[in-house]
Amino acid sequence: MKKYKIALAGNPNVGKSTIFNFLTNKHQHTGNWTGKTVEEASGEYKYHNKIYEVYDLPGTYSLVAHSKEELLTRDLLCFNKEIDLTIVVCNAVNLERSLNLVLQIQEITNNVLVVVNLIDEALKKQIQIDLDKLSKILKVPVIKTSATNNEGLDVLKEKIEYYARFKNMESYKLKYDNKLEKEITKISKNLPSNVKNKKWISLRLLNNDKDIIESLKKYSNYDIKTNKKLLTTLKSSSNNLKNIDIEVLVVSNILKECNKIYTNTVINNKNKYIEKEQKIDKIITSKIFGIPIMLIMLFLIFWLTIVGSNYPSELLSNFLFSLEAPLRNLCQIFPSYISDLLINGVYKTTAWVVGVMLPPMLIFFPLFTIAEDIGLLPRIAFNMDYMFNKCHACGKQCLTMCMGIGCNAVGVTGTRIIDEKRERLLAIITNSFMPCNGRYPVIIAIISMFFIGTTRGIISSIISSLILVLVITLSIIMTFITCSILSKNILKGKKSSFILELPDYRKIKIGKIIITSLLDRTIFVLGRAIVVAMPAGLIIYLITNITYNDVSVLTIISNYLNSIASLIGLDGVILLAFFLGIPANEIVLPIILMTYLGTNSLTDYENLTSLKSILIDNGWTMLTAICFIIFNLFHFPCGTTLFTIKKETNSWYYTFLSFIIPLFIGITLCFIVTTIFKIFCLLF
Ligand code: GDP
Repeated sequence: MKKYKIALAGNPNVGKSTIFNFLTNKHQHTGNWTGKTVEEASGEYKYHNKIYEVYDLPGTYSLVAHSKEELLTRDLLCFNKEIDLTIVVCNAVNLERSLNLVLQIQEITNNVLVVVNLIDEALKKQIQIDLDKLSKILKVPVIKTSATNNEGLDVLKEKIEYYARFKNMESYKLKYDNKLEKEITKISKNLPSNVKNKKWISLRLLNNDKDIIESLKKYSNYDIKTNKKLLTTLKSSSNNLKNIDIEVLVVSNILKECNKIYTNTVINNKNKYIEKEQKIDKIITSKIFGIPIMLIMLFLIFWLTIVGSNYPSELLSNFLFSLEAPLRNLCQIFPSYISDLLINGVYKTTAWVVGVMLPPMLIFFPLFTIAEDIGLLPRIAFNMDYMFNKCHACGKQCLTMCMGIGCNAVGVTGTRIIDEKRERLLAIITNSFMPCNGRYPVIIAIISMFFIGTTRGIISSIISSLILVLVITLSIIMTFITCSILSKNILKGKKSSFILELPDYRKIKIGKIIITSLLDRTIFVLGRAIVVAMPAGLIIYLITNITYNDVSVLTIISNYLNSIASLIGLDGVILLAFFLGIPANEIVLPIILMTYLGTNSLTDYENLTSLKSILIDNGWTMLTAICFIIFNLFHFPCGTTLFTIKKETNSWYYTFLSFIIPLFIGITLCFIVTTIFKIFCLLF
């Protein structure tokens, strides 16, 4: 069966992934911010007995290749001979900017289909586009879609079927300055026949683009250094053009063309909607209000999460632990040591993890997805850019930190949006400073028990959320300090420049929020936590049950650790629990309780009052609670995150740094707090 290859290109955030998901039935992550699709993704679909392979390319504004995304897109379009049709997805609300990429892609290939997406948003803003005229000017088919509303997507499938079969469609080509065109022709003539897109490649060579030389070697097996004639022509052409800044000339030419096409095809009443958005932006990104608004939003997200997950958490835990008896009955077919291992080890640990994690995740992730979808995240990054700038890191790191609050492994993968390697490493090493879903529910529990009281009420939930915002602020401050120190030592360097696009504000789509937050995030994170918690439960069960002189191995080791732990305000049990919790942070507290109670299995999650009395009976004070929270924030990333860091950096050295730096910070901060506390107690 014939297989057609389709490339899906476009600016960031124009709906490519939404269209890709529709075509291929996949779940590529979508969201209202630039740089989510950092890798090329591919998928297939069948239509009228033909197979179509679709490549969802990372969003890019041009093909000049300054970033990894641009290089990937450019190389696929320029050198992959087998692409039958390139779909360029455009933003109907900002067509002029989209046209920039359309024109550049038309330079490389004739087989282009232009999709003007977000037509619903354009209509709302009273922007009308004459699609027929646009198609006539560009000389390629143009269709309109509203991808999230499934409008126009069936027509898209029909058009793909029709145009993928065409070879050498006609296409609009840019015309450059006569002098430049002449030199381009000279260089093209010297390129061998197997090199496609001679005109465009010649222009890039003239522009001294080093990447194109590498790509020619890699994809066309052609080293320009072996062609003396070409090198001489290049030199003489550069000489002939030495008074012209080619880059500026080319860019201004494209921009002029885009503007001409735009004014000819778009009827855009300078309207109240755009003005309203600009006014909102002025407030949200203002120097005075920007950061306070951001902190209030963070507070609201945490407050809703805390209030909303209190009761469900207890109900769910009760339910899960009520299943213990029937499960035990079921396991009677096994010898008692196996059924104990399964129920007390595997099941109880997993039930703990699910009971503690699931309710806050079910609230936090949808709220986070809403902030992402309406376009708030890039604005937060914009507000923080100045601070990141000061410590030589990249403003986009802020987005990866937000992702880290959900799951550090996801945050680490998300750092791919940062182009510069040094800045990306800064973001990776410090990502675990953000408390993930496995950690902040425990922090909330400790805050409630030791700082507010375990009674529930609106006031206590407000204070909890405020303290949590303070805790996150501490994490952010430590991120800045660490980035700043690393930028002067191990990861020396200056900050690169980057453009952070502020996307249009978009309406919330409830269905999409539920799917993204439930499928992509909650089930994904929970699934991974369960996979880790089950074997971890088994190992912990074994350690607690293997005894020496009637004392469990767990207790023996924790006794040894007591003297070191007391220096940092903790005890041996807590310290050991953090190390045993490497597989998943959420099992740290259960291990502590298990050891304190001398039980060889996890206790039921009853309520905070009984938890607090267990902790106090075992010597916990306000100091222990503070140091526990600090150490919870700064110790080492969980196993999954470390694994992801190794995969992303391909380096044991940076994985080790990511392990040791937060641990060092945690130990130092706890030591300082404990020493101050002890001095204070001595004096008063
Ligand atoms: P990509 O970066 O180009 O892959 O864009 P996505 O597919 O991730 O979409 C970016 C955002 O725009 C997401 O929040 C989508 O839900 C939203 N979106 C995509 N297409 C449309 C559309 O036609 N109308 C509206 N209103 N929103 C859309």
